[in-house]
Amino acid sequence: MTKLEELIIHRIQETGPISIATYMQECLLHPSLGFYNQKDVLGPDGSFITSPEISQMFGEILGLCLAQYWIDLNRPDRFALVEFGPGKATLMLDILRAGSSVKGFIEAAEIFLVEASSKLRSEQKTKLSKFNVNWIDDDLLIPKIPTLFIANEFFDALPVNQYQRKNNLWYEIQVGLKNNQLTLGLSHRPTTHPELEGRFSESMNGDIVEISNDAIRISKSIGEIINNQGGCALIIDYGDWHSLGSTLQALKSHKSKNIFDKPGKVDLTCHVDFEALAKNSGCAYSRLTTQGVFLERLGISDRANQLLKNSKPKNHKSIISAHRRLTHPDEMGTLFKVLGLYARNESSPAGLLN
Ligand code: SAH
Repeated sequence: MTKLEELIIHRIQETGPISIATYMQECLLHPSLGFYNQKDVLGPDGSFITSPEISQMFGEILGLCLAQYWIDLNRPDRFALVEFGPGKATLMLDILRAGSSVKGFIEAAEIFLVEASSKLRSEQKTKLSKFNVNWIDDDLLIPKIPTLFIANEFFDALPVNQYQRKNNLWYEIQVGLKNNQLTLGLSHRPTTHPELEGRFSESMNGDIVEISNDAIRISKSIGEIINNQGGCALIIDYGDWHSLGSTLQALKSHKSKNIFDKPGKVDLTCHVDFEALAKNSGCAYSRLTTQGVFLERLGISDRANQLLKNSKPKNHKSIISAHRRLTHPDEMGTLFKVLGLYARNESSPAGLLN
């Protein structure tokens, strides 16, 4: 039993069952025992590997997409570049390197990072030491200037609440105890949530609905900033336009695990409900586009060819396999989606359709 599991069991013994969101929050972000505060969670040796960790091509394409948006905004001499959950800072470094080929872009950028893990924050500080970087909370207190947001595999890490429909009422699924072991159960009393109102018509008794209050709150803040200050957001994650059913899963060393297996040592994630992000943002949103199509539209194959031309033959295999992993439908090309948010009077970011 992990130390964190003991703490959670103790808490439930004292005060009763907790929501799945609270369980996820503890498992992922407990200040010392949470998953994101452990060593090497991201990358080939960690629990999972993300697109920027697979290849520099990913961040370069995103960087140029953001730089194009800045050009379309008539190159404001100040703008905020905000990244949610920057992990090992690889994506931000690739964005800044690619962006430096666009005159004036880097000079105009004020960088803000939203990062809850103190361990990852210090890694970001080291990696980005050449830049002036500010860490902010997800209340997004930034200057009133045009803002470009980026989030790769951030929203899937946000806690969700789960509700199950029974006798045409909604009950919350909670984490409780059975024989002093963590187990799932239903709340005794039915519950309500504004987001559940619209879910009756599409569900049946027994169905499970997931709602991430954090995702809704953050997308509202992003939308407000974009509408008031101008800018856009690129949100990349796995999930679909609309989610129904439980998508909560645990991952350890790239393998799927039970959600109660070694709390704090295992990643917990959910598929992103992009419709909830788009509609709650209150700003304009693009069509949801698969990562493979998006990257192809923005020229990832040209970039791969250029890298092949400039690299030694021994590196060719890894460039080709990274290109395949990022774009192929059997790999990350279809599972991962891209959503663009933008101001109502503007166009969607390059590579996405209005
Ligand atoms: N974007 C990076 C890392 C993805 S992992 C990449 O693509 O490689 C998820 C990231 O989000 C980690 O940096 C994690 O610490 C951070 N994170 C998770 N939950 C968070 C929260 N509630 N607030 C801020 N950051 C969070």
